[in-house]
Amino acid sequence: KENIITRKFDAVIIGAGGSGLRAALELSKAGLSVASLSKVFPTRSHTVAAQGGVSASLGNMSEDNWHYHFYDTIKGSDWLGDQDAIEFMCREAPNVVIELEHFGMPFDRNPDGTIYQRPFGGHTANYGEKPVQRACAAADRTGHAMLHTLYQQNVKEKTNFFVEWMALDLIRDEQGDVVGVTALELETGELYILQAKVVLLATGGAGRIFAASTNAFINTGDGLGMAARAGIPLQDMEFWQFHPTGVAGAGVLLTEGCRGEGAILRNSEGERFMERYAPTLKDLAPRDFVSRSMDQEIKEGRGCGPNKDYILMDMTHLGAETIRKRLPSVEEIGHNFANVDITKVPIPVVPTIHYQMGGIPTNISGQVVIKTDTNNAEVVNGLYAVGECSCVSVHGANRLGTNSLLDLLVFGKSAGKHIVKTVQAQHEHKPLPADAADLTLARLNRLQESNSGIYSQDIANEIRQSMQQHAGVFRTQEGMDEGVVKINAIREKVGQVTLKDKSKVWNTARMEALEVDNLIEVAQATMTSAAARRECRGAHTVYDYEHPADHPDFPLGRNDKEWLKH
Ligand code: FAD
Repeated sequence: KENIITRKFDAVIIGAGGSGLRAALELSKAGLSVASLSKVFPTRSHTVAAQGGVSASLGNMSEDNWHYHFYDTIKGSDWLGDQDAIEFMCREAPNVVIELEHFGMPFDRNPDGTIYQRPFGGHTANYGEKPVQRACAAADRTGHAMLHTLYQQNVKEKTNFFVEWMALDLIRDEQGDVVGVTALELETGELYILQAKVVLLATGGAGRIFAASTNAFINTGDGLGMAARAGIPLQDMEFWQFHPTGVAGAGVLLTEGCRGEGAILRNSEGERFMERYAPTLKDLAPRDFVSRSMDQEIKEGRGCGPNKDYILMDMTHLGAETIRKRLPSVEEIGHNFANVDITKVPIPVVPTIHYQMGGIPTNISGQVVIKTDTNNAEVVNGLYAVGECSCVSVHGANRLGTNSLLDLLVFGKSAGKHIVKTVQAQHEHKPLPADAADLTLARLNRLQESNSGIYSQDIANEIRQSMQQHAGVFRTQEGMDEGVVKINAIREKVGQVTLKDKSKVWNTARMEALEVDNLIEVAQATMTSAAARRECRGAHTVYDYEHPADHPDFPLGRNDKEWLKH
């Protein structure tokens, strides 16, 4: 039997990464009572790992402007992004970046004191004419600097942090409105109901549904699992971005900032092959395009190494001084994960799962919506989502590098502002339904009572291997159809998971078992959506279908000349 403690707040924010912290700041500044929950200490959230930069057209009209950013993002999304949301994001970009600077973000500087910006994949001037410097960077530790800046601002505004708390389930009342959330305090194992006028999901990505991923171990898609269990459909789940330059065999990311600073991809013949595939943008073409080109080289026998199964990224011509100044973490990663001194020899890389474009559907104010048909959507009262767990659809089928940190800032802020208005307009909390904690209690009791001998670690591994095999970087229709059957079968076993240690206090096995409930929701949504999309689109690369985008003159060229006429 669980003893449940109830506490009341104006708003509960689940997640203290970049998006959650940006939103929390608006709420705390407005004097609302906010509970900001995080499984880990806020500055250990995954945003800390972001390396290359945050995009914004800071230049004057002749060099760069938001129209170019807008166009690049739509084109980069393989024409699937929501153009209204993209316009909002690209117009807002300079404001939120300058605001971040005023919060104290230690950006690198140009000699004239302006913010240092580097080129990044798919970011161009004058509608695809040439690469442009749009990624505002703090060396290759941009996420680290941003997360600490936002955390400090929240400390200043007295945001109420609940560190090492794990949110479990949304509470919806009879009308379907969200009125709170259940959560575990990990240190004590106590179960809580946090009643709130608004719940904001900012739980980050779910890259850990795959065996090889650049994501942290905490990225288990908890917010997506919570939304799915509460009956909210997820959007665009087939689109998982693979980053061209994960360290071969290790999965760890080498930022696109490397190629932004001039790194070159070479095949076994030493050729800079991207010149053949994308004559204008070369190594700085969008990620899906570069990854497919690398795969093509490997398939045609020009991969490197004894098994000809990776590509080399060459930075040796940049010089040790530039590398140490602009890419210090990359140098460390080379030593630690590939046993390579990148200032002297090229490093082996392969495309690696990196980022989820889909998620919990929202509008530009962060309100969660259920889409009833192509043109209509109903708002779920009391529920918001921002950051990588959400899908306002600015990334469509493929995200441009540096647009995620921007997404966190722009939509974190707009959701924060909208929540303030919502909370201020609602004087009383809505009552909790009688069955508020039933779903959570059923999950906890199941774990306590089961003696099946099926453990969460094994099930998590089974999910990860199946997803890697059937919905990994490059897919086949037959593979995905098989994957759907496999994942459905694994789901049956998830319901039987048990614990060796049934204690409650700081029981990390209990936490991992609860995470598996989220992994399976995300895995199933991904597998089913992937099998259903019978075309190649952006990051959804299926060998059975031709990729219409792969044309050297228009690297992502669906109708782009037509589009420009508008
Ligand atoms: P996160 O920062 O992941 O935060 C999630 C929060 O939710 C954490 O606080 C976590 O504790 C909490 N949480 C999760 N589940 C629960 C739960 N059940 N209960 C309580 N709390 C919970 N993007 C760019 O734009 N530029 C880059 O240069 C860049 N580099 C990257 C490099 C790497 C290696 C990776 C993996 C990604 C990179 N990205 C980059 C992508 C970007 O970093 C992420 O998309 C973004 O930081 C996600 O932020 P977030 O706020 O959504 O989530």
